[in-house]
Amino acid sequence: MEPYALVVNAVCQERIWGGNKLLTRFGFKHATEQTGEAWVISAHPNGPSTVVNGPYAGKSLAEVVELHPDWFDHLQLGKFPLLLKLLDCRADLSVQVHPDDAYASSFGELGKTECWYIVDAEPGAEIVLGHNAQTREEFRAKVEAGDFETLLRRVPVKQGDFFFVPSGTVHALGKGLLVFETQQSSDVTYRLYDYDRRDAQGNRRELHLESSIQVAICPAESANVNPVITREAGRTRTRFMACEYFTVEKWSIFGKIHELSRSSFTLLTVLHGEGHFLDQTGLTALHPGTSLVIPANCADYAIEGTLEIMVAWI
Ligand code: ZN
Repeated sequence: MEPYALVVNAVCQERIWGGNKLLTRFGFKHATEQTGEAWVISAHPNGPSTVVNGPYAGKSLAEVVELHPDWFDHLQLGKFPLLLKLLDCRADLSVQVHPDDAYASSFGELGKTECWYIVDAEPGAEIVLGHNAQTREEFRAKVEAGDFETLLRRVPVKQGDFFFVPSGTVHALGKGLLVFETQQSSDVTYRLYDYDRRDAQGNRRELHLESSIQVAICPAESANVNPVITREAGRTRTRFMACEYFTVEKWSIFGKIHELSRSSFTLLTVLHGEGHFLDQTGLTALHPGTSLVIPANCADYAIEGTLEIMVAWI
């Protein structure tokens, strides 16, 4: 079969910190008043995207990757490497750290390097990014003393900001943020601090202090982001990040652009606006929340409309 652009659905996950924006702004099927995460492009078994168009409608993205490794030619071991999410943070998320590839490989997972584009931020919104301990011993001492106030680095954020969060970085999204996340396809998280919160039953969520202390990079390294903006006919392209795990751009489209598929694959998620995606199979309407996977060696395609689209590839 010839490769074609796959339209995929979002898999919504309720979280105690989730809100209603994934329902009200993006209208995701199965979103609720407390959806924290929409996994907009995923081949991870904990929340796999399903193709909704063409001959493979009804198959999961992971199944298509398995059937056609040639459509995704960078892939090793049939594992789709990226996971794209939208997150609606009505409350603070717990403070976490993820292992790197080497550490995670011992239990068959990838490490988790991620990055965040801030789609929306309420005034005063913050994230936790990094820590102030100079050594692992100091990190351990502060964690064991519960001194998170001086340990954690807080950073004010606003709409349009972008943050790179390599594995080993202590991090948390704060309340009042709507975030587009690009990450390695992994679900391994160590929870370091949960603000001593208790749920309705009076229980605290599980913490993973020892694993967190082991994988946290000490001292913290600051990961700089230097967006590169290119103006082209019909589009302003902002490249936020190009690292060994992913490249992430935002395309602001006004009019019509023409694109070639690349040698790996291209992932597109519409944040704002309306328009159309056009290729040899026809026309797909684009709305906020529409996500497409463009395999390698697809025919040329065009995008038309007034749109803001997040784009990722490896
Ligand atoms: Zn994370």
